[in-house]
Amino acid sequence: MEKKNIDWANLGFGYVKTDYRYVSNYADGKWDEGVITEDDKVVLNECAGVLQYAQTVFEGLKAYTTEKGQIVTFRPDLNASRMNDSAARLEMPTLPEGRFVDAVTKTVKANAAWVPPYGSGATLYVRPYMFGSNPVIGVKPADEYQFRVLTTPVGPYFKGGVKPLTICVSDFDRAAPHGTGHIKAGLNYAMSLHAIVTAHHNGFDENMYLDSGTRTKVEETGGANFLFVTKDGKVVTPKSGSILPSITRRSLIYVAKEYLGLETEEREITLEEVKDFAECGLCGTAAVISPVGKIVDHGKEICFPSGMTEMGEITRKLYDTLTGIQMGRIEAPEGWIHVIE
Ligand SMILES: *Cc1c(COP(=O)(O)O)cnc(C)c1O
Repeated sequence: MEKKNIDWANLGFGYVKTDYRYVSNYADGKWDEGVITEDDKVVLNECAGVLQYAQTVFEGLKAYTTEKGQIVTFRPDLNASRMNDSAARLEMPTLPEGRFVDAVTKTVKANAAWVPPYGSGATLYVRPYMFGSNPVIGVKPADEYQFRVLTTPVGPYFKGGVKPLTICVSDFDRAAPHGTGHIKAGLNYAMSLHAIVTAHHNGFDENMYLDSGTRTKVEETGGANFLFVTKDGKVVTPKSGSILPSITRRSLIYVAKEYLGLETEEREITLEEVKDFAECGLCGTAAVISPVGKIVDHGKEICFPSGMTEMGEITRKLYDTLTGIQMGRIEAPEGWIHVIE
């Protein structure tokens, strides 16, 4: 198979139309068989549930080429179960996990020419999503749904080297206690747009959201979970019912414990104690870990000892180990690497 003629190393993070996508429709209480199609257009009734009441959930994962030349994805079974948790919370139908993984596999396989080569740093981003598709005007769940998987090639995250982020403590809240912060739904992003535009306008890369109940505890950013390292080398992550359970964060905790022999702890973390940590990073599929150099709380600066030019020492080890596992340079735990071809 011939790869597309793309300058992989200089790709950004934007939508590029690839050749194929997957579509399955849900009606009369069941999913149809699903197909791979070249048609990138979605045609919906003007009153579709997704358009009126934002009934939509999504996932995000990457397909890439390992050192051995295999095209793989990382733990897609966890994306499948998380999408079902999201769907259930929004009164949408679930999709059997096997169907989800099969749809991702078929879509990536069909777009194999778009999967960047090993060593390019680029990946094929995979976006499964589901939405209410039939007309809904009274507030209630839709009766019909569409599940799609699209792919788009994205460039290396740390183009031109690692650059630790400066983030601000946001005056906006992301999620309510007992709300929808723990699911991957478009609605959580719609309301974060004003907050992120404001943060960028003020010169910050990201927002740190606090728990909206007390505004004293660290939750997450708009699209990544926090990970902290204590001065004595323990990896600590925030525990909260309103943060999105990042697959990257869960994998990093496993790597910290089982590969690096580090102590780990998931617990409530107050904003007050953040100044005492040695390292801070943001975990998510896109970057694996982005180091945070500085957190600004209304003019009060917290500068991590790891500084503004490189990853902290433990953050670096976590990053190197997990990306090594993903790329096939380090043996993966059973079931983590899903081979596509
Ligand atoms: C997707 C997402 C993450 C990261 O999750 P991964 O599974 O690691 O990609 C973190 N926070 C939010 C709010 C998210 O939507």
